[in-house]
Amino acid sequence: MTKPVVDLIIVGSIGIDDIETPAEKREGILGGSVSYACAAASFFSHTGMVGVVGTDFPQEFRDTWSNMNIDLEGLQTVEGGTFRWGGKYHENMDNRDTLFTDLGVFETFSPELPEDYKEAPYLFLGNIHPALQLHVLEQVKDPKFVLIDTMDLWINIAKEDLEKVISKCHMLTLNESEAQLYTGEHSLTQAAKALLELGPEYVLIKKGGNGSMLFTKEDVFLLHAYPLDSFKDPTGAGDTFAGGLMGALCDSGKTDKEAIRQAMVYGSITASFGVEEFSLERLVELDRDQIGIRVAEFKEMCRI
Ligand code: AMP
Repeated sequence: MTKPVVDLIIVGSIGIDDIETPAEKREGILGGSVSYACAAASFFSHTGMVGVVGTDFPQEFRDTWSNMNIDLEGLQTVEGGTFRWGGKYHENMDNRDTLFTDLGVFETFSPELPEDYKEAPYLFLGNIHPALQLHVLEQVKDPKFVLIDTMDLWINIAKEDLEKVISKCHMLTLNESEAQLYTGEHSLTQAAKALLELGPEYVLIKKGGNGSMLFTKEDVFLLHAYPLDSFKDPTGAGDTFAGGLMGALCDSGKTDKEAIRQAMVYGSITASFGVEEFSLERLVELDRDQIGIRVAEFKEMCRI
């Protein structure tokens, strides 16, 4: 059998963002779930991006991805405007308000995989409408491991579609409030139990700066977040975490629980770099050695 052209496919949104934090305001920067996730995964695996941009999309942003060796064969360019999103963070940087969402070409996005992507063993269904996630999943021939992410919007308006696609995935990732919203359970262990009933073998609950929890029917694994002195922009941290995790898992060639736990460490550490600057600005200058050094430092911090 010939080796697939990419080892990991990631689908999700591509946005041009305006972001305001208490310290700084930035306009027209590269964002979107698939942009963060592919950038993070690119340190560990050969990753293909599946997404859509409009004819207004700057060449400079494409070059950013190409320079990270992200495969862009699955990137569609469609007549019209790229998805745009604006967000403003509160003083505590934990909460934010969406200022505007302009769907542009994202509104009619139909993700079609290039023929040579269909053999890819690892798949990350990033945050888009669950019917589109299912459409992607159905095109991949025999994936070894599929991770799915979602958001409150789809939980509120497309739960049936979401349930259908989640049941076909190996792992589901949500943040704490989404897990509570989905299940109506305040306790995260109760919420995880209910989510595991939907079918996935693993449920990963992200708690922002408070780390993450990996649930299976048998046990739970707790991971701290790397303690940072300061950070500039938490946008896309969850996507960076999940992208790094999938990249590292793909690099290991495995799909078992121990490999997922190790991959979570790489995802989390990659995300800790990502939030140090806006957009992909920190990730573009990062290398695997720097990630390795911080992973070692982190493991030492966690030793009991
Ligand atoms: P996160 O911080 O994980 O919510 O990811 C933020 C990124 O998601 C931003 O770069 C936005 O461009 C993108 N985004 C914002 N709203 C949506 C939406 N409704 N659907 C898909 N992507 C979105």
